[in-house]
Amino acid sequence: MGFDSIIGHEKQKSMLLSLLEKERLPHAFLFSGPEGIGKKKVVLEFAKHILCDKGFACGVCRPCIKVDRGSHPDILQVGNEESIGIEQSRSISKEVYEYPYESQRRIIIIDNAERMTREAKNALLKTLEEPPSFNIFFLITPSERDIPLTIRSRCMRLVFSPLHREQLKEYFKSTLLVNNEKAELLSYISHGSIGSGLFWTMEENFSLRRKIAELVLGKNKSFLRASVIAEKVAKSQREMTMFLSFILSLYRDVYCVRECGDTAMIVNKDIRELLEWEKINLVRIKTSIQRIEHTINLLRYNVNKWLIFENLMLRLMESA
Ligand SMILES: [Zn+2]
Repeated sequence: MGFDSIIGHEKQKSMLLSLLEKERLPHAFLFSGPEGIGKKKVVLEFAKHILCDKGFACGVCRPCIKVDRGSHPDILQVGNEESIGIEQSRSISKEVYEYPYESQRRIIIIDNAERMTREAKNALLKTLEEPPSFNIFFLITPSERDIPLTIRSRCMRLVFSPLHREQLKEYFKSTLLVNNEKAELLSYISHGSIGSGLFWTMEENFSLRRKIAELVLGKNKSFLRASVIAEKVAKSQREMTMFLSFILSLYRDVYCVRECGDTAMIVNKDIRELLEWEKINLVRIKTSIQRIEHTINLLRYNVNKWLIFENLMLRLMESA
């Protein structure tokens, strides 16, 4: 019920509840932290606490049910698109001056707030300067530095950390009903994020992961294959990010196997034979890591994803 259904983030949850209890809710929050760790889930559960008829996210009153169904008229959500434009920002600005339909308050959720265009950010800033008091804004972002300071300074900031491996393992075991070994692997390769773990449970992604490893580590080099894989991976920003962080973890593992000799530290335990197969030298491992990090950085700009991913794989293959 309510916050109990969310694993981790104990400090943040109790802080939010105490603000609500003391009736000291700010008019805007900024939630930041890695993707897929439950930031939006915390917002939605907290919305239930705020809007619930009984005041504690009972889960059975009409407002609670509407929140669960995603049909509460006093919750306004944007941010599932590639970018958040001026029109959306303006429609929010217009709505905030209307009274809420059914509740004392209106919840405005801007997910992926860093994707707001400059105009959208400016329009939001104006709204945040003097919003009617019945509105509460929740800005959610994986990268706080992409939110202008002028907006940040008007929000109460809550930083969310990746979940612990044990928490994740338990979560995967209980919700996906996978065995201990699979849950353990998922807890390693998901880097603290439930969302990432779920991504890797999809068969297509999981098998592509191995193909990429074979390719870049030199066991199965093929330029044609690299291009086909790049096309698949470049479908969306999210997939691209997931696969890039996988490749990064791969090279960190190779480094680990080579330098520390401590195999307990490695993340990609299921493809260990590929990590040990790898014969590239230390300097090349480091250059490769820099290349991957550079590509991850490039993703922040409007680039041709297919091209930069293909280019990265070709470069990595060359040094393998
Ligand atoms: Zn309720």
